[in-house]
Amino acid sequence: MHRTVQFVAALAATCLTAVSGPAIAQTFVIHAGQVLAEASQTPRGPATITVTDGRIVSIADGWQDAPAGVETVELRDKTVLPGLIDLHVHLTGDPGGDFWRETVEPDEWGVVVGVKNAEATVRAGFTTVREAGSAQESAFVLRRGTEEGLITGPRIIAAGPALAIVGGHGDVSGFRPEINEILASGYSCTGAVECAEKVRRASQNGADVIKITATGGVLSQQGRGLEAHFTDAEMKSIADTARSLGLKVMAHAHGARGIEAASRAGIDSIEHGTYIDEAAARVMRENGTVLVPTLMAFQGISERLDKGIYTPVVEEKVRAVAETARVFMGNAHRWNVPIAFGTDAGVFEHGRNAEEFALMVEQGLTNREALASATTAAAKVLEMENEIGRLAPGYSADMIAVDGNPLDDVTVLENVDWVMVRGRIVD
Ligand SMILES: [Zn+2]
Repeated sequence: MHRTVQFVAALAATCLTAVSGPAIAQTFVIHAGQVLAEASQTPRGPATITVTDGRIVSIADGWQDAPAGVETVELRDKTVLPGLIDLHVHLTGDPGGDFWRETVEPDEWGVVVGVKNAEATVRAGFTTVREAGSAQESAFVLRRGTEEGLITGPRIIAAGPALAIVGGHGDVSGFRPEINEILASGYSCTGAVECAEKVRRASQNGADVIKITATGGVLSQQGRGLEAHFTDAEMKSIADTARSLGLKVMAHAHGARGIEAASRAGIDSIEHGTYIDEAAARVMRENGTVLVPTLMAFQGISERLDKGIYTPVVEEKVRAVAETARVFMGNAHRWNVPIAFGTDAGVFEHGRNAEEFALMVEQGLTNREALASATTAAAKVLEMENEIGRLAPGYSADMIAVDGNPLDDVTVLENVDWVMVRGRIVD
């Protein structure tokens, strides 16, 4: 009887989210050595997880036999836990190319690169990612491709092109004026009215979230500093307009006053947050603004110094952020800023996302806090906490298997042995 109730609950959950791809009409019985259902719990096991049509139906003690005709997955010496969530990736890009060449590549090439990277990402155990900026349609078609199961990859929450100031980080610079004009994404804006219009345009074209570059950036060809580039009025207009459309805003921000201004304006998450200070942290805490630290981005760019990859203007900015990158997340944590997991994959090689965990622990998170940042906390940022980030009946069957217990050693997450995303096994 209990089982039937759970099954009906799972079916109801499926009907409520019928937008998520075609039904698979398939059941799996998974024998897990241990199950870590949620980062706040301790592993239990052995256990049997039953999955039907992409959803978890039940988690029961012991290894129970599968009904006739149902496939059994043997993970008897593994720990099974929720699929990981990376809130900041750029699937359509790879690190370290010539900036001018990447800039003039057709958008279609980004999709080809994105198919490769989507597969590398999900194989690394990341079953949901937030795509933090791409050419107009590239991330949207990748999102559809993984949802429909045409390509192997994670669930994708996509921003599309980032809103930027004219010539700022996220817009094009470093070319002749007429070239800049041709290469423009169409999403730079000036003034509250135009910025509101661009948010609505992004929504119209399929964005799940609004990405803005609130301050200068490290890898763009402009030497205009890392402080706020949008005005307060522009950021407030972006945040208010997004909220009216039910969308959250993620803001790339490095400088402390830019972080503070973005948080005050009502932006939902600060990406990078490199020069966060106590005053900015206080405003973030008061507004419930989440920090997505992307420590692997700093790792990735420092690995590429002195190789003739970056232009002089970029090389100088990379050197300038190296020191603070080693401590700023730990400071933010001590100042009680909520932290959620994001890497900026694309600035380093896709598939290395889980190396972020060790960097977070080095700066002061516990193993458990680090795991929570990529599961329950990240799901909350996406407002998907009833769908992903935990293993429970009715939840999407997004799970991974590893050796050992990530609560004892978070680096076991760097070697994921088995992945299921939306009830599909990644071979
Ligand atoms: Zn980024």
